[in-house]
Amino acid sequence: MNDKLLVVGSVAYDCIETPADSADFILGGSASYAALAASYFAPTMISAVVGNDFKDSDIKRLTARAIDLSDVRFDSSKPTFFWRGKYHKNFNSRETLDVRLNAYENFVPQLGKDAQGAKYVLLGNISPEIQAATLDLVKAPQYVILDTMDLWITTAAESLNNLIKRCDLLIVNDSEAKLLAGTQNIICAGNELLKSGAKTVVIKAGEFGAMLFHCEGFFVVPAYPITSLHDPTGAGDSFAGALAGYIAGAGKVDFETIKNGMLAGAATASMTVESFSCYKLEQYGIDEINRRREFIKNISKI
Ligand code: AMP
Repeated sequence: MNDKLLVVGSVAYDCIETPADSADFILGGSASYAALAASYFAPTMISAVVGNDFKDSDIKRLTARAIDLSDVRFDSSKPTFFWRGKYHKNFNSRETLDVRLNAYENFVPQLGKDAQGAKYVLLGNISPEIQAATLDLVKAPQYVILDTMDLWITTAAESLNNLIKRCDLLIVNDSEAKLLAGTQNIICAGNELLKSGAKTVVIKAGEFGAMLFHCEGFFVVPAYPITSLHDPTGAGDSFAGALAGYIAGAGKVDFETIKNGMLAGAATASMTVESFSCYKLEQYGIDEINRRREFIKNISKI
């Protein structure tokens, strides 16, 4: 067994349009965002598949953060997972204009020895079938974090509910929590999810921060107050990645550690949304993450 964090999810090329700017074929995907964020806190590995168009420069971006790519498969017959999204006025909502599974169509996860021995696993957003099949390959996971999206809540409810019971921490955003719990009140949604089998729940609420529903109590972390929102894509994945990385790096899973992990998540996510892809996060690095963590801590106390 090892103290590394195994991140499962999509590695993608995204085309994104915001009210202010647009970018084509930039590195995205839940696993890319999550692993880049996690890499500031713990040694990180990715399990995913990329296609025949995957660029060396993107491999370099991930390996520059010491992310272990030995469990990233290469499918020479298909392109990389593709997502095209457009944000509406004021970034308040977005629509998916195109999504192509490409290399994920026939993807069967396989893990090398190191990944099989991971103590910490983040099942980042991808189908619950791929998440479960990957988790099956990890020999003795000690702490499993699950992230998902509305698509799977509506199309794969049974697989998702079975997976929730195998995980230690469920991360969803506010609308997903309400959808999953079948209630319009966010606090009731968190409590319902605990009752229905999730051991611990984090609900992300974008610019309003995130809430923790834990058997030892309730906790809220505010978002870092930014004034330069550029592209919200990947904020949730970065939050989940930094939280998972923080837990793996600390080697502890208690209430205090999860609360501190949420501070790390909030700081890191705020840097992701200041540029397309993770460019700002990679540019500013750990010093700025730590400065923002301290700032959030200070604005949270009386
Ligand atoms: P977020 O903004 O946190 O929801 O994450 C956006 C990222 O998720 C983008 O980089 C997309 O490539 C990726 N993505 C979009 N749809 C899916 C999907 N169905 N499965 C996995 N990843 C996806």
